Amino acid sequence: MAKRKKIIVIGSGFGGLSAAIRLAAAGHKVTIFEKRDHWGGRAYQYNINGFKFDGGPTVITAPHLFDELYKQAGKRREDYFQLVPLDPFYRIFNGNGEAFNYWRDIDQSVAEVERFSPQDVEGYKQFVHGTMDVFRQFYPYTEQTFPNLASFAKILPYVFRTGTWRSMYGYASQFVKDDFMRKVCSFHPLLVGGNPFDTPTIYGLIIQFEREWGIHYAKGGTGAVVNGLGQLFLDCGGQIYFNTPVEEIVIRNKRAVGVRLPDGTVEEADEIVCNSDVPFTYKHMIARSNRPAWVDVWIDNMKFSNSLVVTYFGTDKRYTDAALSHHNLLLGSGNYRKHMQEIFKGKKLPKDLSLYLHMPTRTDDSIAPPGCESFYVLSLVPHLDAGINWNEAGPAYTDHVLSHLQQEYLPDLKNHIIAQHSINPMHFRHTLNSYKGAAFSVQPNMMQSGYFRPSNKSKVFDNLYFVGAGTHPGAGVPAVIASGKIAAEMIDPAPVRQQVYQPMQFALNA
Ligand SMILES: Cc1cc2nc3c(=O)[nH]c(=O)nc-3n(C[C@H](O)[C@H](O)[C@H](O)COP(=O)(O)OP(=O)(O)OC[C@H]3O[C@@H](n4cnc5c(N)ncnc54)[C@H](O)[C@@H]3O)c2cc1C
Repeated sequence: MAKRKKIIVIGSGFGGLSAAIRLAAAGHKVTIFEKRDHWGGRAYQYNINGFKFDGGPTVITAPHLFDELYKQAGKRREDYFQLVPLDPFYRIFNGNGEAFNYWRDIDQSVAEVERFSPQDVEGYKQFVHGTMDVFRQFYPYTEQTFPNLASFAKILPYVFRTGTWRSMYGYASQFVKDDFMRKVCSFHPLLVGGNPFDTPTIYGLIIQFEREWGIHYAKGGTGAVVNGLGQLFLDCGGQIYFNTPVEEIVIRNKRAVGVRLPDGTVEEADEIVCNSDVPFTYKHMIARSNRPAWVDVWIDNMKFSNSLVVTYFGTDKRYTDAALSHHNLLLGSGNYRKHMQEIFKGKKLPKDLSLYLHMPTRTDDSIAPPGCESFYVLSLVPHLDAGINWNEAGPAYTDHVLSHLQQEYLPDLKNHIIAQHSINPMHFRHTLNSYKGAAFSVQPNMMQSGYFRPSNKSKVFDNLYFVGAGTHPGAGVPAVIASGKIAAEMIDPAPVRQQVYQPMQFALNA
């Protein structure tokens, strides 16, 4: 190992943990300062009246990215937490009570397309072929940076030749004609904060990311993954301070040299890794006198993802007879394009509802008290620039969502709720320090991707690195774990990469 460095990591989301574990396993002295009282950031797990509610990510894919972290530390992931595969991946409701089972196996999904829209079967197969190709083309870029514009320009001939510069919805619409099928083929950008009508199809690689490695559930919820990674960090000799927000990154001669804590002490470090949101960090954690004016102009011109209202609720009964599955997408039946515009560009709460309903008790009894059921319902809403007064609008909106669930999917729901908690854009802004309360930070459009996305090494300050959703390669658990890998390797390229990549497992019989 080269010189043992003193490294500070700000924040313990998946991106921060990924970098911190790699660097601690490589023998560096790593300290995490975390604002909240537990690990996980967006993946924080709430424990309320005996229910466990995963705060954010529930769809766990690419488990080899976790395995790599354990392997680098000489450990086994299975000794820390267990994963079970889920299939169907999603049950997608069309707004008229009918559900499409979105299976890992393509032939099974094709059979579902045949059931809903027989004329779209051939088009669906071509669409899947297209996204497989996108995956093969772009997967390597999810684990490396674009060091200069020329390296990014190399992808452009492919993007123009294949039409994958088009929006995910536009690309899907070339192949499938039915409105619901178009939604089924183009919802994935929403998982990383992108508007399907704006997000280029290069993000369609997520579709095959899921098929390649499956969708998994961690026993005990995503909280078990967070705890498993936290324990691994401690086992590697790392140190964490909870309830300790970093107030300022101390800059000397354009170099990040330490962090200032709430009690005024300054902790010095050789390198600083920010898992705090990139735009928030530049604007609120680095003194204005230390940052060049162009940084503010750059951030002021960025586009940000949507935000979310998420309500976690536990019932005193099980809904085993409902036609629902572990992961449910409950789409509205209104005008989809208009609905997305209201979410991404609007100034008020959308009338239509597009919801994700998580029902982990379907897979894991331990997540709720005996005979009870644990849920979360997620709704897409505009970020704070919309000017919505969430103190007033929040409770009424949550009630609207629960009423909708009660009427369409979970009879008599409100009479059975015995635990409840909600978050809205104010949570993202004030608890998680996310700029404008965006749930997925910087929006994934073409001009904010690859070389144009905030880089993993600061272009302004030496010894300052960024990991997490607002940086390359983007939002979502696999991406932020990859960002931690990229940043850690920039700081210490010495440790051998522990690649646990598994070969392609999916095939299309067409
Ligand atoms: C509701 C929801 C559902 C999602 N579902 C999925 C899913 O199913 N699958 C998937 O792959 N992705 C999902 N995502 C996206 C995914 O959760 C995120 O992209 C990812 O977890 C973000 O990780 P991160 O590394 O950027 O860190 P974050 O989770 O954003 O954590 C950053 C940490 O930094 C801390 N911090 C910030 N400022 C400071 C400071 N000044 N000092 C100290 N600490 C600080 C915060 O407290 C926080 O703990 C979901 C996101 C949300 C919100």
